[in-house]
Amino acid sequence: MNTRTSLLCVRLATALPLAACDATQRPETALTQPPEAAQLPSTLWQLAPVVALENGVYEGAATVGELRRYGDHGLGTVARANGELVVAGGRFYRVDSLGAASVAPDTQRVTFAILTWWPRGSTPVVERRLDAGLNFVAPRMPPPPPDSTTFQRAVDSLFATHNWFYTLRLHGTFSAVKTRSFAEPKQPYPPFCSLVATQDTFNLSSVTGTMVGFVEPAFVGTMGTANLGAVSIPGYHLHFITDDGEQGGHVLSFTTAAGVRLQVAELENFQMRMPRTRDYTAANLTQVDTCP
Ligand SMILES: [Zn+2]
Repeated sequence: MNTRTSLLCVRLATALPLAACDATQRPETALTQPPEAAQLPSTLWQLAPVVALENGVYEGAATVGELRRYGDHGLGTVARANGELVVAGGRFYRVDSLGAASVAPDTQRVTFAILTWWPRGSTPVVERRLDAGLNFVAPRMPPPPPDSTTFQRAVDSLFATHNWFYTLRLHGTFSAVKTRSFAEPKQPYPPFCSLVATQDTFNLSSVTGTMVGFVEPAFVGTMGTANLGAVSIPGYHLHFITDDGEQGGHVLSFTTAAGVRLQVAELENFQMRMPRTRDYTAANLTQVDTCP
């Protein structure tokens, strides 16, 4: 009997005679030791709703050391919007406002993150070798990205539905990659849209590295209401780190060279941790701060 069946059996026991549940097959630990969230497979784990970032809530809500419990693959924004986070192969990198990457210490605080454990063992991972010349263009956030680029069309064809979460990993050589990062803004912190308006961008050419990211359903976004903030980031969201670990950032666009290895896996669960920071608890998150 697996753990999931055991827990269902415990729940039913509150409404049914105990005889309906075979106690001899129920682990004694089921009630006292629920599975650690960090150990659930196939989970998209998120630190903070995106609406907080959109509204200039930039205090660090967790350290890299804490985030290591929730995944070895993903992306995020470091504390005080002072750089981008890239998590590839269990290494946590901070990309600064010059586009330079370095391994983040465990004490590095992080505002926002999306993480998962890259699948191992029997979890299915779909693999493809991509043709040269596939293009990707990320939109500003929000709205969700158009599915009009050749890269997105190629990957979308692998999905049985757009109502699930997926994680992506690409490794290989890209003929062009455009990334961005941020420098810490002055206080009082401006909304995210004004950071995007003044973001630093970096053009890399003939560069080899890893892209990590996620494809999320449209319903995590604004749900069609212009001033309603998002829970997460709908559509494609990718961060990049070069093989030498020295450059990277949030991916704005790229073009593949031949033979880039694409790996895609489904994520069955979505979990979000709320920040306990002062600015998060005091923020008005019923609407999104907009830019002129
Ligand atoms: Zn990003």
